[in-house]
Order: sequence, then C-alpha cells, then structure tokens
Amino acid sequence: MDAKPRARRGGEAARWLPDAGTQPVGLLGYPVAHSLSPLLHNTAFRAQGLNCVYLALPVAPADLAVAVAGMRTLGFLGANVTVPHKQAVLPLMDGLSPQAEAVGAVNTIVCRRAAGAVTLFGDNTDVAGFLAPLHAFAGELRGAPVLLFGAGGAARAVAYALLSTVHPARLTVAARTPAKAERLARHLSPFDASGALRVVALAEAAAAVRAARLLVNATPLGMHPHPEGTPWPDAADFSAGQIVYDLVYEPEQTRLLREAAAQGAHTLGGLDMLVRQAAASYAQWTGREMPLAAVRAALRRR
Ligand code: NAP
Repeated sequence: MDAKPRARRGGEAARWLPDAGTQPVGLLGYPVAHSLSPLLHNTAFRAQGLNCVYLALPVAPADLAVAVAGMRTLGFLGANVTVPHKQAVLPLMDGLSPQAEAVGAVNTIVCRRAAGAVTLFGDNTDVAGFLAPLHAFAGELRGAPVLLFGAGGAARAVAYALLSTVHPARLTVAARTPAKAERLARHLSPFDASGALRVVALAEAAAAVRAARLLVNATPLGMHPHPEGTPWPDAADFSAGQIVYDLVYEPEQTRLLREAAAQGAHTLGGLDMLVRQAAASYAQWTGREMPLAAVRAALRRR
C-alpha cells in the first residue's frame, strides 16, 4: 500500500499534525532512542506532503513477535528493524527478498495489503545502501583485493554486497574473533563461487591491509563516544589509490578516515550509506523516491 498525500496548504509542512488518516511506520529495536531514522523519514514525509509518521518503538526481545503481529492490524506501512532484532524477525516474515535471505537479516518490513489480507515482506536495504556510494568506483573495484574489518551483522551485508556485485579477487575478513568470521564465510559460500573469501585474525591483517584497493570498517571502532578508536592504528599502511569506507557515521570524520586521507587515500563515511539504506526502505513503503537533498539538509542542521 502506497503512502497517501494530504491536500497541501501554505505552510503545511510546518503545521502538519497527525490525524485519523495518518499511516505509521515504525522502528523496532531495543534501544532506539539514539536513532537518526525518525529524523530522516519524517523529514522526507513532510517534504513530500505525505500523511505518514515514523515512530521509534522500543521492543524488548520477548515482545518482538507480538509487536510484529500488531503491525498487520494497526495500519502500518512497514517498519525498520535494528539491533537486536534483525535476525530474530526473519521467521516472522511471510516472504523475504533475495538480499534478506542471503544476509540472514531483515532491516526493513513492508506491509503488503491485498484482498483484505496483510502479508509482511522482509528486505535488507543495508546491501543497497552500502553499494550506492561505491557506484562511481564499480569499474576499478571489479576483481580488486578488498579488506573488511568486522564479522557482525553489517559485515555480512557488506560481504554479500561485494561478492554479488563487485566480485573482488580476494575478500579478506579481518576479525577480532576469527571463528565468527569463519561462520560468515561459511554462510556466504553459496555466493563465493570463485573462492574470494578468506579470514585472518585482526592482529595478522597487515599484508592484506596494504594490498587492499578497498578497505571497509564494519566494526563500531571509532564511534561516538569513543572517537579515538580505529580498527587499524598503523596508519602508515594506508596509501594513495586506496578507498577507505567507514560504516561508522557518528562522528562523520572518524579517526580511520582522517588517517587514511592523510596518506592520500579516498575516503567514504557512513552517513551516505545511512541515507541510502533509508531511501531504499522509503521507496518500498511510499512508492516514492526519498527527497535526498531535504534529508541531507536536515542531517546537517541536527
Ligand atoms: P555487530 O553485529 O555487533 O558486529 C560488530 C563487529 O565489530 C563484530 O565483528 C565485533 O567483533 C567487532 N568489534 C566490536 N568491537 C571491537 C573491538 N573493540 N575490536 C575489534 N573488533 C570489534 O554490529 P553491526 O550491526 O555489524 O554494526 C557495526 C558498525 O556498523 C556499527 O558501528 C554500526 O553503527 C555500523 N553500521 C552503519 C550502517 C550505516 O548505514 N552507515 C549500517 C549498519 C551498521 P566480535 O565478534 O569479536 O565481538
């Protein structure tokens, strides 16, 4: 079901109030108070005059199934799903996108209504969100060596995105807990026909760091309130010609990005990915393109 616009009058965006026809979209997580998603989506709804509201909904793990079932009857357009529910929500879906199925995690639920019935479709827009800022580099990255820091949920989405579109010659996963990275590699082996995936302990990743054309940080190292953190403190290992992509978006300029840029590397921050994964969800709920300029302006003003 697409979002319904409401008749616009002068100054409507400033005076918008929810009414009896307002369609909700939720964020299911625990906790959710820190999330930027309400700002992104409500800015887009107001900019496009849609009578929708995006609500951060703290849902304890024991209540997840009840909360998801409630979406079917409460008129929800859909929801985002965040920590710790991205995997637990999978069996509660009626259908999954190939991305959600491959990654084994859902970050977006779309409520589809037909003939009086509601079905819940689970997608993973972190895949599209991660790839969007890399499109400009797609040609030069094909067949190049890539290094991925981390083996958690975001790393799975990144590894799947890279294996299914960039086709790196080598995709090295450098993890503090190599057993977890081995599990990631086993899970994604159906998408690794050329045997690109390899696991190294973080402490032994120096050669792979120096050789990589693209480096991706999918750990929380460097994130507020610990901006001194970095997955790779040996900044001399970075060089011009490398692309260093940090999924951390708070702060926008992480220590990793600052140090890589100082060595001449091209850097990409996590804020664009955040906006692009939101845009991919928004399009499915509303049938519209997210107004990116308005959303980015709201992020700058925050
Ligand atoms: P996660 O599932 O908890 O995984 C975190 C990974 O980082 C794990 O492999 C963990 O290792 C590793 N790690 C944590 N602390 C570490 C440390 N001190 N030293 C070495 N490795 C460490 O988290 P996630 O959901 O994948 O998220 C990871 C980061 O990506 C977060 O900062 C998140 O905000 C960011 N993210 C950004 C976007 C975006 O749109 N920009 C989207 C998704 C996620 P262990 O397994 O050993 O614990």
